[in-house]
Amino acid sequence: MEQDRSSQSRPPHVLVFPLPIQGHINSMIKLAELLAIAGFKLTFLNSHHNHERLVKFNNIAAHFERYSGFQFKTITDGLPLDHPRSGNWFLDMFEDTMEPKMKESLREVLVNSSPPVDCIIGDGFLGFALEVAKELGIPIIFFRTSSPCCFWVYYSIPDIIQAGELPINGSEDMDRLITTVPGMETYLRCRDLPTFCRKLDIEDSIIKLVVKQTRKSLQADALILNTAEELDGPILSQIRTKCPRVYAVGPLHAQLNTRLNAKHGESYDHISNTLWEVDKSCIFWLNKQPNRSVIYVSFGSITSTSREQLLELWYGLLNSKTKFLLLVRPNSVIGKDGEGEDVVMELMERSKDRGYIVNWAPQEAVLNHPAIGGFFTHNGWNSTLESVVAGVPMICWPQFADQHVNCRVVSEVWKIGLDMKDVCDSKIVEKMVNDVMVDRKEFAKSASEIAKEEIKMVQWRPIHLKRSRAETRARR
Ligand code: UDP
Repeated sequence: MEQDRSSQSRPPHVLVFPLPIQGHINSMIKLAELLAIAGFKLTFLNSHHNHERLVKFNNIAAHFERYSGFQFKTITDGLPLDHPRSGNWFLDMFEDTMEPKMKESLREVLVNSSPPVDCIIGDGFLGFALEVAKELGIPIIFFRTSSPCCFWVYYSIPDIIQAGELPINGSEDMDRLITTVPGMETYLRCRDLPTFCRKLDIEDSIIKLVVKQTRKSLQADALILNTAEELDGPILSQIRTKCPRVYAVGPLHAQLNTRLNAKHGESYDHISNTLWEVDKSCIFWLNKQPNRSVIYVSFGSITSTSREQLLELWYGLLNSKTKFLLLVRPNSVIGKDGEGEDVVMELMERSKDRGYIVNWAPQEAVLNHPAIGGFFTHNGWNSTLESVVAGVPMICWPQFADQHVNCRVVSEVWKIGLDMKDVCDSKIVEKMVNDVMVDRKEFAKSASEIAKEEIKMVQWRPIHLKRSRAETRARR
């Protein structure tokens, strides 16, 4: 069934459809805004649950009213509205619970769309969108929001298994080099593979799901990735041996900031696309700290820590010679009977002289604040790119998905960070923080050099919260 999509007298209509989790929404909504600025008619298709949160915490609908051709539409993600959606929830539920309902809803939106959708930009993890697009005769571009290196590793998993390089034989085997991922033969170790590759069962359903979605991504009309040729050129060339229509369109946050700043001026108050309420008070606290004196510690929107891990991190930070801004998301500390939350309250009280703790920060503004000298990160791809563009060196503590590969690239290829993978010990935390913040360990290429040289095409400008005006108000 094909719709009439003669679009000569109207702007092309693009539907952007992310996986319903924070990191994916973040980069896809930025892409959607860039397309709206370029004059496309845009439908952003989000889950009911996430759209409600974006509206509640960031008044997102009001922000996008400025683009006459922009609309939000919402569909179910297949789960009840009161489902907690915390932790790495979606992998287990994706195929049986979410996919069938999302597929049916997507089809319905496309069939009823007026004007008809001329092109779908679908999250590359939502492979079912390919079948719907083919059925309705609509071109589809897949957008993989993870790093190109990780995409390439996911793609190569069947070859790694075929070569007998998986499974991993216990902890002594973790530093063995993997030789079957073209372009990464000299640096990719077993411990840098996604964590699900650590399972002994190579027939595991999550491995199969990830490989299936990744291979499907290359069957779309094109594949786009949130990176720049200057950052990931060698791996992009490898991916192009499987699919020539691969485009590097990022870093999207930097592209968008540049355009918005050019249009509205450097002090433009950027909208936040986040699913939590942003606590801007940390910017006022940062304003009082000397340049490059604070380490920002955040592990993204999904990762949880145990009570013990949080305490190791906290003691390491406390014993280092550096002040810290620590992010602890609500319900992200795993402990018995509210123990996790109690420990956070206690740390807040005891951190007063040395640090500042928030539930959710305006991360881009934080990373671009002059007081920030380092980023203790889980290496989600958005966070990694945001740190690279801001020129902030990293301490990498990856947890799952693409984070282990990203961590290896940051520390071993770009050489702009330290790798703390598989360790959580206060002494190591203390040493790494001091290396980065106090001794200013020489990285082969500094983070700020990469930001300036490698991605100079972006002509990036920092973003600002309206801190001068807000600050004025606070001081009155
Ligand atoms: N983020 C934020 N405030 C926070 C923590 C995170 O705005 O306090 C944003 C961050 O800027 C990034 C996204 O949330 O754009 C997290 O995405 P990422 O890919 O780094 O990690 P994920 O959350 O998917 O693990």
